[in-house]
Amino acid sequence: NAPIAQADPEISSLIDQELSRQQNGLEMIASENFVPRAVLDAQGSILTNKYAEGYPGRRYYGGCEFVDGIETLARNRAKELFGAEFANVQPHSGAQGNAAVYQALIKPGDTVLGLALDHGGHLTHGTKMNFSGKFYNAEAYGVNPDTFLIDPEIVRRRALEVHPQLIIGGWSAYPRIEDFKALKEIADEVGAKLWVDMAHFAGMVAAGLHPSPVPYADVVSSTAHKTLGGPRSGFILAKQEYAKKLNSAVFPGQQGGPLMHVIAAKAVAFKVAGTPAFKERMTRTLEGAKILAERLNAPDVAAQGITVLTGGTDVHLVMVDLRNSEMDGLTGENLLRECGITVNRNTVPFDPRPASIASGLRIGTSALATRGFAAPQYEEVADIIGTALANGKNADIHALKARVTKLTEDFPLYPGM
Ligand code: PLP
Repeated sequence: NAPIAQADPEISSLIDQELSRQQNGLEMIASENFVPRAVLDAQGSILTNKYAEGYPGRRYYGGCEFVDGIETLARNRAKELFGAEFANVQPHSGAQGNAAVYQALIKPGDTVLGLALDHGGHLTHGTKMNFSGKFYNAEAYGVNPDTFLIDPEIVRRRALEVHPQLIIGGWSAYPRIEDFKALKEIADEVGAKLWVDMAHFAGMVAAGLHPSPVPYADVVSSTAHKTLGGPRSGFILAKQEYAKKLNSAVFPGQQGGPLMHVIAAKAVAFKVAGTPAFKERMTRTLEGAKILAERLNAPDVAAQGITVLTGGTDVHLVMVDLRNSEMDGLTGENLLRECGITVNRNTVPFDPRPASIASGLRIGTSALATRGFAAPQYEEVADIIGTALANGKNADIHALKARVTKLTEDFPLYPGM
């Protein structure tokens, strides 16, 4: 039972190097966060040893009395946090949870209508190379070409054209708040079910800082690891009438044994997300995104043809639009990496460049809020990013990196680890 450093020095060293990368740079990938130690403790626990196919009280294995308690707590906490009638906390990931939603709500070959991938949707919302676009007749709606906003009238027109059985709300790369009530009205008008994938904004919903899709959608799916700050995994909320179908779609429909260590970590994360400290962190997250958008709207950045998609943000991320700039997404991502800031390139709607290069950057503020950043630090990081993008190849990387290092030293991550 040697510790990992002795049992497997190669893996141990790579984990140490990754820890150091996270500690010494600024993580601004919008889908990432830093979990609290309590989540690491649960996820790294002996619960990984336990098989528990089935659900609490109805397992196919013996010895489940304690893991039953864990899953019941996780389910109850999720329901309470989001005001939902039903929760399934077993999905191993967001994508697997989404596969279960399809399986529970519709049949293969049925028509679904989701936000196009290149307009900010997710792979599992009907992309051709994903199961969702292969097994279902996937149709897409795009954002309004003038405002770049999700426009209920456009969704409605598409829904009347394609007659979907399922309309999908939610997004992976979109800086504004969707109108869930309007989506529900459209779904009702065309006789479709409404599913909202709140993976990105679940943390703000939990904190009461973003409208909740729960009252409107038939089913809401999410990941636990983005703004919500839990372990990598998924969960599903729904009206009680879908409980049976969703449970059997997750197990045995999509998965075998649940990952009880991850479910325990999810339970911890749901508990944390119900605290005033979490709400305060989400408030700083949103404030940071607004500060970043404001800096990226400044004249030195605009002079390079770089703009902020939709002009700003209501959520934890800013979409930078490089369509009119010499700099492409790949170059921008690499430039910021050299400064010690990790972001990801992303297509923007009507992107003339291929997805591998892309004309956008998606920059998120949640991990830095978890690190303790507030307005003054966001102003500094926003200025570092703005200065880098405004100067492109002529940016003084050395000076910008020194400013990043100062921020990482002032706000240590996982001190003592
Ligand atoms: N749904 C949305 C909206 C997402 O943005 C993502 C991840 O990026 C997922 C689902 C998939 O989550 P996972 O990576 O856990 O499969």
